[in-house]
Amino acid sequence: MRLRDNASRCRDILRKVLTQRHELRTNQFTITMKTIIEPFRIKVVEPIRLTTPQQREAIIQKARLNVFSIRARDVLIDLLTDSGTSAMSSEQWSAMMHGDESYAGSESFFRLYDQVQEMTGFEHILPTHQGRASERILFDLLGSAGKVVPNNSHFDTTRANIERTGAAAVDLVIDEGYDPQSRHPFKGNMDLGKFEALIERVGADRIPLCMLTVTNNSGGGQPVSMKNIREVHDVCRTHQIPFFLDACRFAENAYFIQQREPGYADRSVTSIVHEMFDLSDGATISAKKDGLVNIGGLLLLRDAALAQQARNNLILTEGFPTYGGLAGRDLDALAQGFREVLDEHYLDYRIRSIAYLGEKLIEHGVPILEPPGGHAIYLDAKRLCPHIEPLQFPAQAITIGLYRIAGIRAVEIGSVMFGNDDTPADMELVRLAIPRRVYTQSHIDYVIEAIIELFAKRHELRGIRIVDAPPALRHFTATFEEI
Ligand SMILES: *Cc1c(COP(=O)(O)O)cnc(C)c1O
Repeated sequence: MRLRDNASRCRDILRKVLTQRHELRTNQFTITMKTIIEPFRIKVVEPIRLTTPQQREAIIQKARLNVFSIRARDVLIDLLTDSGTSAMSSEQWSAMMHGDESYAGSESFFRLYDQVQEMTGFEHILPTHQGRASERILFDLLGSAGKVVPNNSHFDTTRANIERTGAAAVDLVIDEGYDPQSRHPFKGNMDLGKFEALIERVGADRIPLCMLTVTNNSGGGQPVSMKNIREVHDVCRTHQIPFFLDACRFAENAYFIQQREPGYADRSVTSIVHEMFDLSDGATISAKKDGLVNIGGLLLLRDAALAQQARNNLILTEGFPTYGGLAGRDLDALAQGFREVLDEHYLDYRIRSIAYLGEKLIEHGVPILEPPGGHAIYLDAKRLCPHIEPLQFPAQAITIGLYRIAGIRAVEIGSVMFGNDDTPADMELVRLAIPRRVYTQSHIDYVIEAIIELFAKRHELRGIRIVDAPPALRHFTATFEEI
C-alpha cells in the first residue's frame, strides 16, 4: 500500500518536474521566435549569376532601358513580379506525379474541383491557363460598347480585356487609395459614394457586373475589408448588378482581414476566405499568385446558364472544360497550392517578410507607399525624385537605376504603364514584388542596401523619354532613352 503511495507520489513529482521543464522550454522557445523565420527549408537550389556594373550597363543599354527586355540570367534578384514565380513545395512536386493527362474527365480536375469547391463554395469551376484568359472569357460574355465595369482599381489586363469589348473600365477606390502616405488599414476599399453616383449617372442596366480586386494590385497590394466587400455586395444586390471578385490574392486579403478588421481576430483564414467568396456571384483568379503555382487560372461562376456559355467559349481557345489550357499535373499542383496558401504560418511569414522590407526602407527615410501591402513594396517615385516630372517617368528612372546599381529588377507602375502622351498616371511607383517562398532574408537585406545606396544618389537620376511604344500595354515593349 505504502509502496504504491510512494510510487504515485514519485510519479506526481516527476510529472511536475517534466511540466516545469516543458514550460521552461516553451518560454525559451517563445523568446527565440522573435524572428518570424521562413517556415520551410531548401531542398533544391538554383544558382544566381553575379554581374559587374560594367556588364549591367551594357545589358540595360541593349534592352533600350526596358527591364522587360533583359534576360532573366542577367538579373540578380528578380522582383519584376510575384506572378508565376513561386517556389513549389515538395508536396506539390509529388502531386504532379499523380497528374491524370486524360483529355476529358481527368482525375486531376476533380481533385482541383473538390479543393476549390470546399474553399469557395462555387459550383461552376472552370480552369484556364491564367487569369487574363478568365477575364477574356468573362468580358466576351458580359462586355460590349456602352457598358461600364466598375472596380476598386482595374488591373492592367482586366482593363485591357474590358476595353477590348468596347466597354469602359472605371476605378472607384477610396481617396486614401491614391494617397501614398495614408495609413488607412484597408486602402483597397471601394468608395460607395462614387459607386452609387456611377449607378445614378449611367444606370444599373449599363453595368453588367461590378468587380472588387483583392488585394488591390494596381493600388499597392492594399486589402479590402469584409465590411466593404459586404457593402459593395449590398449595393449590387439592390440594383441587381452581379458582383465579382478579382481574387488573385484572396488568401493575403483574408489574412489582412484577420489581422486588422474588428471581429475577425479569432476567425481562421479559411473561414474568412469562404465568407469573401460567399458574398460574390463569380470570380476570376490568376493561380500564379496565391495558387502557389507557375501557371494557371480559374473562372468561378454561380449562374448555371452563364457558366454554360463560358464553357463553350473556353473550348474555343483554352481547351476542354476539365483541363482549360493546363496539363493534368498543373491542376494537381494547384489543388495542393491552394491548401498550402491557407496555412497561417505561411501567411505570417509571407506578410511579415514584405513588412520587413518596408520598415527597413522607412527607417532610412526612403519614401514608400504606406502601409506595406501584401505582395510588394512600392517606392514612391514622386517623393523620391521630385526633380523629375511625371511625364519624364521618375519611376522608370529609378527602375533603371536599381538594375544598374545592384542587378535588381523592379517594375515601373506609373505613367509608362497607366499614362498616355499628355496625361500622367495618378501615382508614380516602383514595385518590388516578392516571389513567394523564393528569396531569403539575406537576399532582402541586399535589396535594402541597394535601395539605400540609390536613395543617397537620387539627385543623379535623370528623366526618361519614350523612343518607341505600341498602342496598348506599352510598358512591356516600349524603348526608352535618358533625357
Ligand atoms: C495577375 C493579375 C491578373 C491577371 O492574371 P494573369 O495570370 O497574369 O493573366 C488579373 N488581376 C490581378 C489583380 C492580377 O494581379
